[in-house]
Amino acid sequence: MSATSKPSTPLNALIAGQWRDASGPEYFTHYPHDNSKVAHLHAATKEDVDEAVEFAEKARAKPSWAGLKAHERAGILSRIATGIKNRSEELAQLQRLDNGKPINETRALVASAAGTFQYFASACETLEDTITPARGDFITMSMHEPLGVVGAITPWNSPIASEAQKIAPALAAGCAVVVKPAEITPRMAIELAKIAQEAGLPDGILSVLPGKGSVVGDQLIRHPKIKRIAFTGSTGVGLGIAQLAAQKLMPTSLELGGKSPTIVCADADLDHAVAGVLFGIFSSSGESCIAGSRAFVHKSVYHEFKSRLISATQHLRVGDPSLEKTQMGPLITQAHRQTVEQYVELGLREGGQILFGGTRPKGSDFDRGSYFLPTIFEGLSNQTQMCRQEIFGPVLALLPWSDEQDLITQCNDNDYGLASGIWSKDYKTVWRIGRALQTGTVWVNTYKTFSISTPFGGVKMSGTGREKGRMSIHEYMNQKSYYWGLNEEPIPWSK
Ligand code: NAP
Ligand code: MG
Repeated sequence: MSATSKPSTPLNALIAGQWRDASGPEYFTHYPHDNSKVAHLHAATKEDVDEAVEFAEKARAKPSWAGLKAHERAGILSRIATGIKNRSEELAQLQRLDNGKPINETRALVASAAGTFQYFASACETLEDTITPARGDFITMSMHEPLGVVGAITPWNSPIASEAQKIAPALAAGCAVVVKPAEITPRMAIELAKIAQEAGLPDGILSVLPGKGSVVGDQLIRHPKIKRIAFTGSTGVGLGIAQLAAQKLMPTSLELGGKSPTIVCADADLDHAVAGVLFGIFSSSGESCIAGSRAFVHKSVYHEFKSRLISATQHLRVGDPSLEKTQMGPLITQAHRQTVEQYVELGLREGGQILFGGTRPKGSDFDRGSYFLPTIFEGLSNQTQMCRQEIFGPVLALLPWSDEQDLITQCNDNDYGLASGIWSKDYKTVWRIGRALQTGTVWVNTYKTFSISTPFGGVKMSGTGREKGRMSIHEYMNQKSYYWGLNEEPIPWSK
């Protein structure tokens, strides 16, 4: 279906507490299903960033924000959660139009964003500081204070969830936040900011600056009054951010790419393993940092697993993301599809054989959208570029294994370390393998399940820092120690 006949997103930037057109060039965003225009915006400039940050710095120090009690800040966060819930269907449809994810998936993302604000409302209200055990005639305290103005830079694949995971803990901490959403998917951040305003967030505490990473993101990182950057995106961009941040000793959280292994053991329940591997790689069309893109299957069950997986893949419902039944929508852009196609060609050159997919789906329904079939390779060595690099598309490599030590070596022989999955009935096997895997998350007999109360992040080139979990509020705070003297006598030094 076509998105809108006359795309218009007026006043798309929130700068210094005011909605306005950003000062840079106009641009359009497109619906990946049919390439129709969905939003008309202006990109922000470096000057817009400066104005937003300067205003935010003043706004966050005012009593209307800095003076709020924890339960009052929690009240605002809770009302944002309610605002998201009240507009959930509209938001889910908007995100579908922005990045072409199937409607059932965007509904889940919107629900998770509401849950994130609700969770951090509770965490904000119940967070405590510490009186540490005294070791002299003084009371010692460890307190937390907001960092100040922080920046959030997000990718296009799950905007509302990535943005909520940064904005909610930052507001809970008492910071002000300047958000730079992905240039091509800015509307979730815009709508979140409207909801936050309606929830009573003071002017300037949340700003939204759509535009290019190389302009808006770069200036945000460099601005001296930005005290932290929360980034989700590619490892290449994350490395650049880390280098710039180091120049001003600024903390960052970097949620980066992945090449996650899923392991099917000889004793795995194959019904569960097939469904889990299928979901792990092909949901979100593989445009997921945690996509299980390398499936290591024990030799004793390899052939049965392979034939069941191919059959299940044949039945996947690829198509129009507005339909309830759709499991896999289009890729984000035609250009990204070309990148995926280049990887498929590389896989063939590297000696792989395609078991399923490898091409665009045929038929008029797919003509204008950036669709690509779910694709399964076998015959690739774990050393190939196909098995080393993040494709960020629906492409799976099947790899047989027999020796557990060699399996672990292969799984870990990769720059990335975001997530992994193990399918086995034996708890000792799961424990042994799980402990040896160098990944931030291990899923056991499940995959891509999430909880806001469980910290998430990567190791190695998949990033640093953690999002989620109540203590992630502290990532947005400075820790300050007090020594509070009680001695009746002066320090003996002056005697
Ligand atoms: P990306 O190209 O790294 O972009 C992410 C964000 O960074 C966008 O807002 C982008 O702006 C901005 N950016 C680009 N260059 C920048 C620069 N020089 N300075 C500051 N900001 C800059 O990533 P993507 O293509 O949007 O998303 C896909 C990647 O994200 C994949 O690698 C995926 O694994 C990763 N990801 C990781 C997680 C996780 O939690 N670990 C979750 C989701 C996605 P533009 O809009 O101008 O590009
Ligand atoms: Mg990119």
